[in-house]
Amino acid sequence: MKTLINGLHHITALASDAQRNVDFYVGVLGQRMVKKTINFDAPDVYHLYYGDETGSPGSILTFFPYAGLQRGRKGGGQLTYTAFSIPTTSLSYWMDRLTGFGIPYSGPYRRFNESYLRFEDYDGMGVELVANDVDQRPGWDNGKIPIEYSIKGFFTATLNEFSIDKTVALLTEVMQHKLVAEEEDIWRFEAMLGGPGNYVDVKKSPKDVRALQGAGSVHHIAFATESDTSQLEIREKLLVAGYSPTEVLDRNYFHSIYYREPGGILFEIATNPPGFAVDESLVELGSSLKLPEWYEPKRSAIETALPPIVAEAK
Ligand code: ZN
Repeated sequence: MKTLINGLHHITALASDAQRNVDFYVGVLGQRMVKKTINFDAPDVYHLYYGDETGSPGSILTFFPYAGLQRGRKGGGQLTYTAFSIPTTSLSYWMDRLTGFGIPYSGPYRRFNESYLRFEDYDGMGVELVANDVDQRPGWDNGKIPIEYSIKGFFTATLNEFSIDKTVALLTEVMQHKLVAEEEDIWRFEAMLGGPGNYVDVKKSPKDVRALQGAGSVHHIAFATESDTSQLEIREKLLVAGYSPTEVLDRNYFHSIYYREPGGILFEIATNPPGFAVDESLVELGSSLKLPEWYEPKRSAIETALPPIVAEAK
């Protein structure tokens, strides 16, 4: 079978304060800001991208920080926890580090043979660090966190669903995932490439309240596809299966289609190319505000309206 979906590409969420968001993901978690741009539909709002050194697919967490946005609520029909991958030997380092920043965490818990920590970012977004010894990805050396302890990218993401059958059918019959583990109310699916960064965990939670979108909520989850051709092939499969994917949209750093899975979570399929080095060099990633061509004539007004932010490793 030809691989149409590799695994995770990026996860996009909402925040309430740009600087606090940067402080958490660059400052505390040690991610690289790989792109500083704007919400193409709302140019007075940033679109901030965090990831590993190059912004590899499977490492990219992005935010729209809407100033003063009210908090969302975790619940059913939502991606509730975004899990990053860390080496097993770094678990106590991260516990000490979170404590040092005054960030309460719970755990380590056990799930599918891995230990993980659970906490929230400054907007209440659910984050986990999953300790494992199988992830070979290098992570990003931000100069503060020892590289051997750094986050390697995503591990998995948890989708809370009131009922799971149709979501499971979408993942397994259309999106080329296979069931690799199950435990109590959680089913783990693995995409074709396999391994950390290519899992998605579906949690059956019929008693959840319905999720409300707001600061700290995930807006959508994007799966990676290798090329424009493979994207059109998976789009066709979705259409045949009765889904309504959008037309292909140009997101500058990747091309995207979007559709809702049966439980209501917004899914995206994004191409790996062209990537983040399309408009700035690898060493400069994230260092200046990048705008799509059509906004360049309005650059000075856009820059004036955006709050200044400083990305600093701590
Ligand atoms: Zn997206």
